[in-house]
Amino acid sequence: MNAAPAPGPAPAPVLILVPGIVGPPRDGGPAIVAADPDAPQIGIADLGLVRGEGVFETIGVFDGRISVLDAHLRRLQRSADMEDMPRLDLDVMADAVRAAVDAHADVPELLVRVVVTPGPEGGGPDAVPTAFVHVKQAPDYGPERAGMRVVALDRGIPTTAPATSPWLLAGAKSLSYAVNMASLREAQRRGAQDVLFVSSDGYALEGPTSTLLVRRGDTFVTTPASAGILPGTSLASVVDGLRAGGATCTEELLTPAEVAGADAAWLLSSVRLAAPITHLDDAPLTVDRALTDRLSGLIAQGE
Ligand code: PLP
Repeated sequence: MNAAPAPGPAPAPVLILVPGIVGPPRDGGPAIVAADPDAPQIGIADLGLVRGEGVFETIGVFDGRISVLDAHLRRLQRSADMEDMPRLDLDVMADAVRAAVDAHADVPELLVRVVVTPGPEGGGPDAVPTAFVHVKQAPDYGPERAGMRVVALDRGIPTTAPATSPWLLAGAKSLSYAVNMASLREAQRRGAQDVLFVSSDGYALEGPTSTLLVRRGDTFVTTPASAGILPGTSLASVVDGLRAGGATCTEELLTPAEVAGADAAWLLSSVRLAAPITHLDDAPLTVDRALTDRLSGLIAQGE
């Protein structure tokens, strides 16, 4: 899992369009279609483009094995439900993911992006969502897996937002990730590699693309999903594995100071795996290499 991509040009990405995402295509064509990833495929009026509406998933493939595909597709539907999008045919989407992975050159680590938008603006209730799967060689995450400086940044919304203001879509994996990307640029300006978002009521939440995991003695602590974070598939794999090994895993709201004072902390995600936090702002944290590798193994091998 620490295999850097081979030097030289990356193998060609693969694109599969999914016109059958909500049922058989009206033109009688196939539900999934291979397409040229270098050619334009999305209309300029697509709501994903003009409004940032829609949902996505990023899935890891390790030595040809797709990690927790079902969990990702269930979460795709959960996000789609939060955006009042139609019921998706997840079996068709699963076929599209498998076909795209099979069509890609055999490399140790792949990144699969699954995207579904409501389709073109003005399409009304009968609009067919735009859906595709794009597979490419994963970036080299060796540096992040070795350790990251992380800055705590205010997300500006309280942990009560899911209950009081569901239209903020807290905890949805929506296509509107501009804020998350802006926070990462701010981290870079501050000399860090990643961000820990903090709620306006003062609690550590999640990273812009990752879930927080903290070790305090024999107990692993993570943010309650009810605080408006994305329920991480990597976290679920890690919690299953740690519990099977006898560890205690709990959900608790922690302040950034409590995270900084923990025995270790990580940001978990499906393709980058477990990235240990070496510093939260200026506070140093201990990096446990063996435990980090174990967590990454649990994510990559997740059922
Ligand atoms: N939180 C956010 C906001 C994310 O965007 C992601 C993944 O991109 C995660 C957490 C981690 O989720 P997963 O472990 O399913 O990759």
